Amino acid sequence: METKAWGNRDKAGEWQPPILPDAPPLFRMPWRFKAAFNHLFGKDGYLSGWNLLYALTATVSWMYLTPAIVKNAIAKDDLALAFQPGWIGLIYLRNALLLLALAGGAHLHLYMRKAQGTTYKYTDKWLATHDKKFLFHNQTYDNVFWNFASGVVIWTAFEALTLWMYGNGRLPFVSFARHPIYGVLMMVGVVYMRAIHFYWIHRISHWRPLYNISHYLHHKNVNIGPWSGLSMHPIEHLLYFSGIFLHWIIPSHPLHAMFHAMHAGLAPVPGHTGFHTLQANAEEDVPMMSTDHYFHYLHHRYFTVNYGDIAFPLDKWLGTLMDGSAESLETLRKKRRAEAIRKKAKA
Ligand SMILES: [Zn+2]
Ligand SMILES: [Zn+2]
Repeated sequence: METKAWGNRDKAGEWQPPILPDAPPLFRMPWRFKAAFNHLFGKDGYLSGWNLLYALTATVSWMYLTPAIVKNAIAKDDLALAFQPGWIGLIYLRNALLLLALAGGAHLHLYMRKAQGTTYKYTDKWLATHDKKFLFHNQTYDNVFWNFASGVVIWTAFEALTLWMYGNGRLPFVSFARHPIYGVLMMVGVVYMRAIHFYWIHRISHWRPLYNISHYLHHKNVNIGPWSGLSMHPIEHLLYFSGIFLHWIIPSHPLHAMFHAMHAGLAPVPGHTGFHTLQANAEEDVPMMSTDHYFHYLHHRYFTVNYGDIAFPLDKWLGTLMDGSAESLETLRKKRRAEAIRKKAKA
């Protein structure tokens, strides 16, 4: 059977999807119910695709992969929870294994087995192996190091601290059994909270002094792979995972906080695979619609654009959206020239 080839690769080896990133129908006028519904709940929709998978993973983790000592302390008012390396270590192990399954699986499939070659890969180049700018002179080893030595450590530390707060009755607790609708709406709320928090933390991270001490490390990865997503400096991890503290103020169930942290830990993986989609998906007709991976790939290529998540289009509203078209590149160049002139005039 002949398979359809979508998109175009230019002479420089850059591949572009047939549909470019723009605000989803939910936030576009005139408002069309069916399009908005499909964006949220259709095949691979915003709330029915990856985000649902993370929510289910968090739920299973809360039910079966969270130490009993923690859950008992949360359930019973008269039981206190103390910091102990045992339960914190188990949570680190659980988070590390989830990340390993997702990022390791994607890396194995796309970069070691090269199962689909460069089909739907944004650049035809592979990850760096003899490059002094990376730890161990190897991009993958460098990325994996920052994932586990800093990323999962801070993810786990913030999660453990929050569970400890719940375990000692210090946070506003909402029971799923008593408030199921609020519980489910808050799961959706977490997804949007993440998008908003990420936009602002990321934009602040591009402030020169902060960029130079921390965010530069993530941007060593111009060409990205599954492990690049959570490859950040510890200072950036502290900011990036800080969204969980919103649940210290907003009444939540511990599952919401855990989902928030897990979303931050896992969602960067699909966004950084460097591929638009799996070949198997592209052989159907519609799934090339999703442009969120390309959206963030453009951030790695052009730095000062696309800070957030296109599904909640703060970039569009605040003038930092770039869709990768020739016109958008021209606009970016003009903006940069004008900035350079302004800087010179000041100096
Ligand atoms: Zn990135
Ligand atoms: Zn950045």
